[in-house]
Amino acid sequence: MGEKSRRNFLKTLGIAGAACTGIPSQKLISKTQPQLSEDRMGVLVDTTVCIGCRRCEWVCKKTHDIPAGEIESYSEESVFSKMRRPGNEGYTKVNRYDNYQNPSRPINVKVQCMHCDQPACVSACIVGAFSKKEDGSVVWDSNKCIGCRYCMVACPFQIPTFEYENALNPDIHKCDFCAERTEEGLLPACVDICPVEALTYGKRRDLIEVAEKRIKLYPDRYIDKIYGFTEVGGTSWMYLANTEFEKLDFPNLRDNPAPGVSESIQHGIFAYFVPPISLYALLGGIMWVTKKKNNNNGWNK
Ligand code: SF4
Ligand code: SF4
Ligand code: SF4
Repeated sequence: MGEKSRRNFLKTLGIAGAACTGIPSQKLISKTQPQLSEDRMGVLVDTTVCIGCRRCEWVCKKTHDIPAGEIESYSEESVFSKMRRPGNEGYTKVNRYDNYQNPSRPINVKVQCMHCDQPACVSACIVGAFSKKEDGSVVWDSNKCIGCRYCMVACPFQIPTFEYENALNPDIHKCDFCAERTEEGLLPACVDICPVEALTYGKRRDLIEVAEKRIKLYPDRYIDKIYGFTEVGGTSWMYLANTEFEKLDFPNLRDNPAPGVSESIQHGIFAYFVPPISLYALLGGIMWVTKKKNNNNGWNK
């Protein structure tokens, strides 16, 4: 299948307030989390296909105006000597693991936001800076962010990161599912550049069918599990692998949505620590005002 028809095929697969006001977090959730669309999009990551070229890392940076350097430098394999996490210097990272079944073919795992169907970050954010979109993406509005870092605590995959060096104007960073590209009908940049089709973009329900077919057709190649199908209520990004996901550093999560965890954090704090939270809300308010002021002054990029 040619490059153009591959893309067409893939496209046919689918293409400071709350604490002070006392608004129950459930109301914030229903306000920011729409009904999940049957047609929401996702990505299937096949770790048995990924060659660890890290082109996805490079293009993700380029797409988001993060200094990326030359693409040739990404063939340097010494980076695999330690585990790396997505951060504000790059929203996706590829890690490498030994393949005990086939030592000559190490396992490469691309990591980024999973774009959960019931995102804990959305639920935890007290000012609605995060939102789950109908197309499946979980995006954020840095103008609303007050730097409370609840999202960091709540995320079961430890994805959101902050610009700590910018204390007065904190800003959240994570994969945005290339929202600007997909709105224009383009593929997410990492999917587009992947030279071996390790990443498949499509409607989530179609991707599940694709994954099930691969597992059925190649039982020696895959374990019988699609990671993200049910974890924390399901995620838009899902994975196939030839070994247990725990061995590849995927967290062993239950099927119930993680917002339950973050809600209980919030409820616990709000219920039993009113004075500190009032102080916190005041500080949050000050940060918010400071941030808005900075933005008005053109300090924000
Ligand atoms: S571009 Fe594709 S093959 Fe290369 S590291 Fe990323 S996912 Fe793997
Ligand atoms: S992986 Fe974390 S940051 Fe991404 S949507 Fe899920 S909870 Fe939010
Ligand atoms: S979808 Fe876009 S933002 Fe997310 S990892 Fe891929 S290139 Fe980066």
